[in-house]
Amino acid sequence: MVKEAGSVALQNLLDVQAHDSAIDRLDHRKATLPESQRLTELNDNVAELNADIAIATKNRDELAREQDRLEGEMGLADQKIQREESRLFSGAVSNPRELKALQSEVAMLKRNRGAAEDGLLEIMVAKDTADSTLSSLEAERDGKLARAEELGRTVASLLGAIDSELEGHQGARAQAAATIPADLLELYEKLRSTKGGVGAAALEGGTCQGCHTRLPSREVERMVNEGGLQRCENCRRILVVV
Ligand SMILES: [Zn+2]
Repeated sequence: MVKEAGSVALQNLLDVQAHDSAIDRLDHRKATLPESQRLTELNDNVAELNADIAIATKNRDELAREQDRLEGEMGLADQKIQREESRLFSGAVSNPRELKALQSEVAMLKRNRGAAEDGLLEIMVAKDTADSTLSSLEAERDGKLARAEELGRTVASLLGAIDSELEGHQGARAQAAATIPADLLELYEKLRSTKGGVGAAALEGGTCQGCHTRLPSREVERMVNEGGLQRCENCRRILVVV
């Protein structure tokens, strides 16, 4: 039970309520900042693009390795062809059967080299495509990253402004609350927690500002005459005559 509630304490309780409501609004604003939500989306996009880039890089690197392998294979084939052809034209081999065998060996080496060259061209085309896929993904990622950084600065400054407003309300609330008896403050907190954040309301022109119900004039008269702690008969909030 609240033993006594002086009119100064009750007026200050309305101040506490005003600051608490402002703090609630600012907390809500912080939690639902559209810029923060957009920033989260952008960061998610960047993470997805980074995953795509990792896959595209792996694909491009595999093609580059395959290109190196085929180029190496062709280089070896060229050396071998050169070696066999110089044997063929040197006149060192004169046996017709051996010559024929050497000729077919050179022909086979040239066919293999041709096949490797065809493969290499295909790989080079695929690698060009992979390179351009990779660079367009990187450009998209870099663009989003730059926007995310800019938005991050905007969010930080918005949050900073809200925080300094919050600090102002918290300081003023603490000052006002210091003048209020503990039991009254406790009742207020209890009501606030169950009544949508509003535990104390002004009685203005016979209307409770907590539930916006007009109270009977006899009831209003009684409250004004009695003074002290009064509650709205409709919403049970603490009523402060103003
Ligand atoms: Zn009410």
